[in-house]
Amino acid sequence: MENSCLFCRIVAGEIPASIVHRTGTTVAFRDIDPKAPTHVLVIPVAHHANVVELAADPAAAADVLATAARVAEIEGLDDGFRVIFNTGAHGGQEVFHVHAHVVGGAPLGPMLA
Ligand code: 5GP
Repeated sequence: MENSCLFCRIVAGEIPASIVHRTGTTVAFRDIDPKAPTHVLVIPVAHHANVVELAADPAAAADVLATAARVAEIEGLDDGFRVIFNTGAHGGQEVFHVHAHVVGGAPLGPMLA
């Protein structure tokens, strides 16, 4: 755990969050500023700064994707959804504990619109 990391502190229960699902290695919680009817963030418990670091830990990467799929099931996103890893400055990443945005519940339109 990194004390200065917002999402590590959510994992530790030091900052409240609306938890959707939790496994031994991942936590899924609702985004504080949702951009769609369902907007859930899926993070590994272990701190990795971004998706490049996550990719170097294949077991953690697989767990994050499996939890994203489970969240879609829990949220009833049967008509489809989007999984996004914003990465770095050009990717618009604001929190440097890797997180998959699981977004859905309505048509989302063209990806880069
Ligand atoms: P990024 O831009 O890094 O991909 O996304 C960070 C996301 O974290 C944003 O969508 C933002 O709304 C969300 N966020 C920032 N602070 C908090 C917080 O304290 N709690 C929750 N649940 N979400 C947060």
